[in-house]
Amino acid sequence: MKKLIFLSVLLFSTLALAQETYLHCGRLLDVKSGKMLAEKTIIVSGNSIKSIENGYKTGGSEDTVVDLKNKTVMPGFIDMHVHIEGQSSPNTYIQRFTLNDADVAFQSTIYAKNTLMAGFTTVRDLGGSGVNIALRNAINKGVVMGPRIFTAGKAIGTTGGHADPTNGMKKDLMGDPGPKEGVVNSPEDGKKAVRQRYKDGADVIKITATGGVLSVAKSGQNPQFTIEEIKAITETAKDYNMLTAAHAHGDEGMQRAILGGIKTIEHGTLMSEETMDLMVKHNTYLVPTITAGKEVTENAKKPGYFPDVVAKKASEIGPKIQATFQKAYKKGVPIAFGTDAAVFPHGENAREFVYMVEAGMPVVEAIKSATITNAQLLGMGDSLGQLKEGFLADIVAVNENPESDVNTLRNVVFVMKEGEIVKSE
Ligand SMILES: [Zn+2]
Repeated sequence: MKKLIFLSVLLFSTLALAQETYLHCGRLLDVKSGKMLAEKTIIVSGNSIKSIENGYKTGGSEDTVVDLKNKTVMPGFIDMHVHIEGQSSPNTYIQRFTLNDADVAFQSTIYAKNTLMAGFTTVRDLGGSGVNIALRNAINKGVVMGPRIFTAGKAIGTTGGHADPTNGMKKDLMGDPGPKEGVVNSPEDGKKAVRQRYKDGADVIKITATGGVLSVAKSGQNPQFTIEEIKAITETAKDYNMLTAAHAHGDEGMQRAILGGIKTIEHGTLMSEETMDLMVKHNTYLVPTITAGKEVTENAKKPGYFPDVVAKKASEIGPKIQATFQKAYKKGVPIAFGTDAAVFPHGENAREFVYMVEAGMPVVEAIKSATITNAQLLGMGDSLGQLKEGFLADIVAVNENPESDVNTLRNVVFVMKEGEIVKSE
């Protein structure tokens, strides 16, 4: 009996190995050259791309053929700025007191699924409670459906700063959070906070270099770290091969982040021309998050949606993000696609493409920033971000040619992640 089971397992696994998927692609975007290629077949074997052939090829009877002849096929998109644990609502602020980690975990599975179904096969999570680490692990194990996650775990701020988890609370609840909770007040604290995140299982480091819109605090733009603190953090992160990101709206805090060695600046709202030049010089990337700016601007108009102190900042800062992106892109600042999903509903990440194109970036450039550029930043440039032999089979398709209609990117009809078809309409 044992032998029989063993044999049938062997037989099935052999069959599974032999089976390949043939994707017939009417249009295929080669993100490296920026060229739209016609009539190609992508042959997927296991979790990766075995080859890309001219014309429409078919394999044996055991192989699967997917007809994407009237679609545009691209690599899976990568969003460099999401918060997968939550999603903005008028209840966000009270939920800090009502939700347990398990509640957060269950809701995050929905957000993860919505993100993947929108064609975002990889995301960088820039801060939550730590549930984001468990979610990454669950997705990697195949327990939960979602994008590949590179997570910061808990973000790092300073006392009263944008990532201080007890901002706005009554005094007896405030306590005195430290590096473990993500609050640092010296270079030594900064080092400890990075090492703690490594120990927790984080992949990347996120700091809040300036005030922010959604925290219950007065300033949305003041510098909140010294340059020495930032240097201690980036140098330690380097020891652990962790990519660094800094949330920044104000110019002074942004400059300190760039000079302190941070790799990506998130939002960049009040960036001066001098700082743009500095970004170019240091090869620091701007992650635009225009969608978040649009969303908070709208939500600030709804009475009671935000606390008053937040609504004021949202209506001042939110509307400026797109214009800053436009200027920075024109000046040659490197751009890494990222949205701040959670500030708006997960799954609407592709709105960012529309806003980038509106601001003057050609659509193929915007797609490049969401694929090849982000894959390289994440250290995955050899296996993600392109449709290429040997690369992981993260593949999406839309109905139209995005070069003639950018809005088609908001309606992804086919998603494959690591060789597995997770959506096919
Ligand atoms: Zn964010």
